[in-house]
Amino acid sequence: MQYVSTRGSAPALGFEDVTLAGLASDGGLYVPESWPQFSAADIRALAGLSYVETAVRVMAPFVAGSLSEEELRDLCTAAYGRFSHDAVTPLVQLDNRHWMLELFHGPTLAFKDVALQLLGQLFERFLSRRDDHLTIVGATSGDTGSAAIDAVAGREKVDIFMLHPEGRVSDVQRRQMTTVLAPNVYNIAIDGSFDDAQALVKRMFNDADFKARFNLSAVNSINWARLMAQVVYYFYAAVRLGAPDRPIAFSVPTGNFGDVFAGYVASKMGLPVARLVVATNVNDILHRALSEGDYSQGQVVPTATPSMDIQVSSNFERLLFDAGGRDGVALAQQMQGFEASKAMRLTNAQREGAANLFTSARIDADGMTMAMRWAFDAAGQVIDPHSAIGLAAAREADIDPSIPVVTLATAHAAKFRDAVERATGTRPPLPARVGDLFAREESYAKLPGTFEAVTAYVAERATPRG
Ligand SMILES: *Cc1c(COP(=O)(O)O)cnc(C)c1O
Repeated sequence: MQYVSTRGSAPALGFEDVTLAGLASDGGLYVPESWPQFSAADIRALAGLSYVETAVRVMAPFVAGSLSEEELRDLCTAAYGRFSHDAVTPLVQLDNRHWMLELFHGPTLAFKDVALQLLGQLFERFLSRRDDHLTIVGATSGDTGSAAIDAVAGREKVDIFMLHPEGRVSDVQRRQMTTVLAPNVYNIAIDGSFDDAQALVKRMFNDADFKARFNLSAVNSINWARLMAQVVYYFYAAVRLGAPDRPIAFSVPTGNFGDVFAGYVASKMGLPVARLVVATNVNDILHRALSEGDYSQGQVVPTATPSMDIQVSSNFERLLFDAGGRDGVALAQQMQGFEASKAMRLTNAQREGAANLFTSARIDADGMTMAMRWAFDAAGQVIDPHSAIGLAAAREADIDPSIPVVTLATAHAAKFRDAVERATGTRPPLPARVGDLFAREESYAKLPGTFEAVTAYVAERATPRG
């Protein structure tokens, strides 16, 4: 399988190169040059398979040329063996038509583990082949940092430096990062906001010498391998609910448009997806884009769903590219316009291409609270605020009542237990697998939020190339 850039001028690359590169050299994102096709018979043959076997079948066409089926199976077995539920991503029924797909049974209690556990395995495999080394540098407001650290802790070919804004992530989120004491893990608390931390990371990547010297790499959801890993659970859930003989709708709490774009990919591959509901909080750029064609950046408003407090959704570019006719040169111009003015209109082709499959909803704090209460009253389920945004949108969406609607549950309620307690009066206990989190030793550096301080810290500890 070859991958092309959404901006039309970077060279096409195979899966291994795309995984290690992250962003394309023309500033675009990589997408497969064509979508693998699954017939109804191929989908029917997934019935009854384990998560790992489903993952192997669904991902095999994407990794062709870079990994054999045996290699892929080994990596998936290692990645998903660390989940605490045998089904890896179990389905829970809420009423006669609403279901939740629980994606939070991985080591750090959010759905990002599904993709990052596999990405950690892929990095290790590809870097050993090349005898190369990567330095991951990232900024996190919580979930990505802990999932990425867990996925690469103790690996020989990777160092990870993770910046978080001091005092602005939850205790659970901070401890999930800072209690990992592996020698290749460096946590840095920055005196500043998440945006400050993010700006420092961007500046490091823009420093070409620094980037080359330490072979810097990112683990955010622009990496194609992350999206690919997320396609699997759409197949896994739909097959359990009757696909290919019955269409299924999904509602997805959305920030960077990665998780829901994976649902679009599943549909393109032949899975009968009736609808994809894009659920946003009050940071609603995606809702405005999909309902009115207006993609314009607003101010980020902090909410009880911090992982969705985003105003620019990096993966949306992949949808604009594919739904808009795959014209990379035109899209490069459109995106440059957006980067300059922080606003753009979708083209008619982009709007129509998206309207076939997507609908969207903007859910405010009341809507979120009501969905949390409904899940508890209807089915005894204590759900996290992000999942509640998805569920509220699912219940509002105009979807044929005979079609099952699956809401993706993206975090364990205990990860956001203060917000859950405020909304429901119930404080969810931490699951046993992280039970001694508050007894573990923490280690992290505290640095001023200056470029000089952070680059000096990284340069002293990272492994230079060659
Ligand atoms: C990252 C995250 C999201 C948003 O996912 P995207 O792929 O960025 O759309 C939603 N919920 C939780 C809990 C997350 O950690």
